[in-house]
Parts: sequence; structure tokens; C-alpha cells
Amino acid sequence: PYAGPSSAEILEKRKKYLNPGIFLYYKKPINIVEGKRQYLYDESGRRYLDAFGGIVTVSCGHCHPEIVDAIVHQTHLLQHTTTIYLHHAVADYAEALASKMPGNLKVVYLVNSGSEANDMAMMMARLYTGNYDIIALRNAYHGLSAATMGAAGLHTWKHGIAQGFGVHHALNPNPYRGVHGMDGKRYAEDVADLISSSTPGKVAGFIAETIQGAGGAVELAPGYLPAVYEQIRNAGGVCIADEVQTGFGRTGSHYWGFETQGVVPDIVTMAKGIGNGLPIGAVVTTPEIASVLSRCLHFNTFGGNPVCSAGGHAVIKVIDKEKLQENCAIVGGHLLDRLQQLKEKHEIIGDVRGKGLMIGVELVTDRGTKMPAKAETAEALEKMKDLGVLAGKGGLSGNVFRIKPPMCFTKEDADFLVDVMDHSLASL
Ligand code: PMP
Repeated sequence: PYAGPSSAEILEKRKKYLNPGIFLYYKKPINIVEGKRQYLYDESGRRYLDAFGGIVTVSCGHCHPEIVDAIVHQTHLLQHTTTIYLHHAVADYAEALASKMPGNLKVVYLVNSGSEANDMAMMMARLYTGNYDIIALRNAYHGLSAATMGAAGLHTWKHGIAQGFGVHHALNPNPYRGVHGMDGKRYAEDVADLISSSTPGKVAGFIAETIQGAGGAVELAPGYLPAVYEQIRNAGGVCIADEVQTGFGRTGSHYWGFETQGVVPDIVTMAKGIGNGLPIGAVVTTPEIASVLSRCLHFNTFGGNPVCSAGGHAVIKVIDKEKLQENCAIVGGHLLDRLQQLKEKHEIIGDVRGKGLMIGVELVTDRGTKMPAKAETAEALEKMKDLGVLAGKGGLSGNVFRIKPPMCFTKEDADFLVDVMDHSLASL
């Protein structure tokens, strides 16, 4: 049993010693002390179904024994030296990661977070092309370093500091709210216009998530990526896929999100689910683009450390061994069907969308005007927590449930989640 400090004591210490920018999700916060696969336990031993996985990070499940073993084993042997010496773990891991990539995407740089990975990807694009301007999407989230905050297309995450030089935000190809509906090609035509009106006509690159995460599980309209990649390459740029949330099988049908639109990017960034909770990020690109980094010294103290490399390698093996991508397709398909049925019942559900276990449920006060039901979403999220389900919340107006659980989620878990959401919406 848990013998640590109470929730009230922790809360008081947080208030006193932690930066107030570090926010809490619930009005009545929960104190999570243990995790096992898709379940979390609070200090009283109460179990919660985790439908958000530490914000889409716990890919294989909390405290997966094989991943924990790999981490512990390596920690006992050697925890850290940096990549200035040889170590097999980082080389083996890079080989395994590269084996999962299509085309010529074979060269890996390991870092510690998604922000770092996207920073590096944008820098590589600029160095490789000799151009500066970058096209990002409205409603995007790529991290909160100065450069990635500049690439964000959500005012909620942008401080009023110098950021975003050379970044131009294109129309969001959002099938539910976007001006061109499901017509991906028309959104891409707007990018051509943006390039010719806001840049020197040449760009360094384009960056996008395949399904926007923080923006509220927004799928890019069909046909968008092939068309926009063509526009970008015509303007001398390279294409960056941010797979921080959509990678490693989560979309079910494919290992990488970009594959769902049939494209091969020039640079791919990863984080979160890559480490099942370990701080890992990665930039994977072609040998030609990768070579720009050797123009001067480049170094990252913890990037590719033996412990994270061993843990990350174990994650790739577990995803294959336990067929977690296939599970995302099966359980995600079932969950999407059940949520579509729930939409028939609750007028407040404006849209159900997603692929595999990367799902969004958007709440609106009126299906005609699509007015975001922000307060209702927060209230229902709290009720779901009280009933034992932890879901996520996102979107510009905070009116989208984000359901992105550990990929070992079962159909029974999905049914429980939908029943709890049903009850919570009914009691609003
Ligand atoms: N890209 C995407 C798509 C993300 O969702 C996030 C984190 N929410 C990031 C990048 C940034 O990752 P990190 O918080 O590890 O810097």
C-alpha cells in the first residue's frame, strides 16, 4: 500500500515549489502512484482506465516488464558516457529504427524530446536547402522550444516572445471545420499561393503532424499530403513528418502516420511513444540531408544514451512481438464504431474521427453552427475521471476528447470507455 504524502500535501508543495505554468488537468486532481499496462492506480488503490497514456506516450503499456528489464539491465551495466565513445546499444537501436523506415530514410539522430527533434529537423531543412522559410499548419503543435513554438498554430501555446521567424501558417486541411471540407487538393493549392505571396518563392520545408494531436485529433483531409509535398518540393523545400503522436503503429493500418496518405517524407521526427515513457526523441532522414550536420560540431549529452537506447530498442521489439499495430486497428475500429453510435444518441457530439487508437470526439453546442462546447467538455472529462476513465482534452477551444490509450487497450476497455462517456454526457 501507498505510504507517501497525501494529495493535499503534494498539491501544496507543487504550489510552493513548482512553476505555476505546469498545469493540472482536473479540478479535483488525482495522485497516480502505480501503473500496469492500460491501468493506473491512485494512492487509495483505485484503478483508472488510462485512455490518454501520459499524453500518447505510453505506447506499449505502463511498466511493461520486458521494457523495464531492458532499462534495469543496462542501468546496472553502464548508465552513461555519451556518444564520444563506442557503445553497441545506440548503434543497434539506430539500425532497428532505420529498418522500420521506408525509402532512403536510414540515418538517425537521437535526442531527448519532440521539441528537440523538430528543432533539429527544421534546422536540417534550412541548412540542406539553403532556404529559410517554413510552411506549417494552423492548429499544429510541434513543441515549445522557441523555434517549435513559432511553428505552433494555436494561440493557447504561444508566448509573446521572438519566435517563428520565417514560419508561415497554411490553412488547416480540417475535414470538419476547414473551408474546403474533405478536398485535400484545394487546401494544397492554398499552400502554393502562400509560398508565392509570403516567401521568396523558395522554401526550406514543410512540417505537419499526420493527425494533429494537441489540436484535437484532426485528420488531414484525404489527398492533402501528396499534393502539398509536390508544392513544397517544387519550391525547393523538403517535407518533414512529425510522427511524435502518430508513429509506431498507433494508426493501426500503418506503422507511420504519413503512410496513411501514401507519401514518403524527407525528414521524420519521433518522440513520446518511441520510448514508452523514457525521454527519447529522434530525427530520421536521408544520408544526403543528414550530412549537413557535419559542417560543424554537433553534440547532445543525453541523446542516444545506453539506457534510453536499450529501452527504445525494447519498445520496437514489443510492438512487433505483441502485434500492437494490429491491435490498434482492431480495437480502434471497434471503438470508432461505438463512438459513431454514441454520436447518434448525443446531439452534443459534432464529430467522431481518427484512425486506430488516435481518436477525437468533438463536442459542439449546436451541430449547425459547430459552436465549441468548451465548458461541457471539461465537465464531462471530470465526470469520466470520477467514473474511472482518464481521457484527454484538446483543440483550439478545448472541446475535443482525445482518446489515445496505450496500444494494448482491449475491446472490453473500449466498451467501458464508451459507456462511461455515454453516462457522463447524459448527466451534463
Ligand atoms: N510534436 C507533437 C505532435 C507533439 O504532440 C508534441 C508534444 N505534445 C511535441 C511535438 C513536443 O514534444 P515534447 O513535449 O517531447 O517536446
